[in-house]
Amino acid sequence: MSATNSIWPGLSRAGVYPVPAGDWFGLPGHAVFMVYSPLAYKLIFVSPDGLDSLETVALNRIHSPEPAGEVLKQLIPATEPQKPVYDPNKITKLSVIPNYDCNFSCSYCYAAGSHSDQSRLPFSVLKDMLDWFIDPQRLASRDLFISFLGGGEPALAWDVVRAGIEYARKRSRAKGFRLGIGFTTNGSVLNQQMLDVLKASFVTPGVSFEVLEDVQNLQRGNYRLVRENIFRMLDYGLHPLIKPNITSANVSRLVEMVEHLSGHFPGVRQVKLQPVDDPQQLDTPEKLRKFYNDFIDNYFRARELGLKSGIDVYCLNGLFTDAISGRFCEGEYCLVPDGRITVCHRVSWPGDPDFGGFCYGRLSANGKPSFDETAFSSLMNYDAFNREACQNCFARWHCGGGCLAQASVYRPEMLDEVCRFTREFTRQSLLRKVKSAADAEKLQCLVQQPGFWMSGVFSTAAPAYETNQ
Ligand code: SF4
Ligand code: SF4
Repeated sequence: MSATNSIWPGLSRAGVYPVPAGDWFGLPGHAVFMVYSPLAYKLIFVSPDGLDSLETVALNRIHSPEPAGEVLKQLIPATEPQKPVYDPNKITKLSVIPNYDCNFSCSYCYAAGSHSDQSRLPFSVLKDMLDWFIDPQRLASRDLFISFLGGGEPALAWDVVRAGIEYARKRSRAKGFRLGIGFTTNGSVLNQQMLDVLKASFVTPGVSFEVLEDVQNLQRGNYRLVRENIFRMLDYGLHPLIKPNITSANVSRLVEMVEHLSGHFPGVRQVKLQPVDDPQQLDTPEKLRKFYNDFIDNYFRARELGLKSGIDVYCLNGLFTDAISGRFCEGEYCLVPDGRITVCHRVSWPGDPDFGGFCYGRLSANGKPSFDETAFSSLMNYDAFNREACQNCFARWHCGGGCLAQASVYRPEMLDEVCRFTREFTRQSLLRKVKSAADAEKLQCLVQQPGFWMSGVFSTAAPAYETNQ
């Protein structure tokens, strides 16, 4: 698959992107193209001749009454998204790092260097942040999200987590906000009071857990302890989000994981698969490519099995095609124990060499945050509007220019593999949605017919796709 679409400058300039798709129909890749218009939420399938016709019309900007001109009219989006004005005062997501110490030593831990640091976030600092964050004078939106996570293991700093959860819930109610609260734990520390607080404050627990006993014990340890604590949550009516980290050791076992969850953990409704960023283990482009290829091969089968079993199995890339965004994430306030604020919870320890580059604010003595607007703007401008590499990429308005934290971990040739993965994942997500259309079989016959030129236009606005022709 081509990395960019610069060989079709007319279409690409119009926001319409040809992507090889012959393999999907059992043909050579370049025998059929998916021509995708993310901003018009539409795609069609064309032969190479059909693609030439579309490109000719697009390149000459002619208003052609011919079929290619009519089709192109449907594909070209009316408007491009406007680049937002990034404002550090208007963010709606707060990540709280209460501590850095941890009772585990996971094989891939990106925060391992911080675990001997005994710093704690004082509740007085957290309270100041919550007073400012949950304030109707600050922003128009009434939807906020707070996540308590590591750093280290946040359950080891339960006092401040508990006080923060209860205060945030109380204040959000008083100020008229809808507030989601998450609490991500390694699942090793749980008691009745924690269960009570999580339930009473409508907190969604997320448990980092590899599901299969041998993999958990290889990568994280403590399988039985964590399993029993997940059972306790389920028995208590909580529905923990299970967050397995996917490495080379378990990437080919995703289906087995879903089978195991569905057979042994009734009540689990959501599983978020997290392909690891591990430049130590995945240290060459070839290894990273193989890992991502294996992930794609296994992910879609695991997801389909999950849907049949009532479990929503997903990963971040799997959500891409449901939304349009010019940036990978919306940015966040990540409050760390010394009161400083970074743009991403993955870079949250002052000993991290990237910390200075990710830090853009701090809570001042007056209890209000102050921001370095220049630093914030330069961090947020890592987006699909600015990045040259993204200008002709069909995944541009889904991937949003990629993850800044990932870019700080991998060197450029590894990031090329990340992009390759993103594009292939996006391509397969789109193709699978079309495959689920009622007339997918008709489409299969159509593109395989000699003389095939162009299919009907498919809408990509809804999860289940239908043609309009
Ligand atoms: S539980 Fe989390 S913070 Fe602790 S070692 Fe494992 S990955 Fe790192
Ligand atoms: S970062 Fe995303 S949008 Fe940019 S080139 Fe890579 S895959 Fe495409």
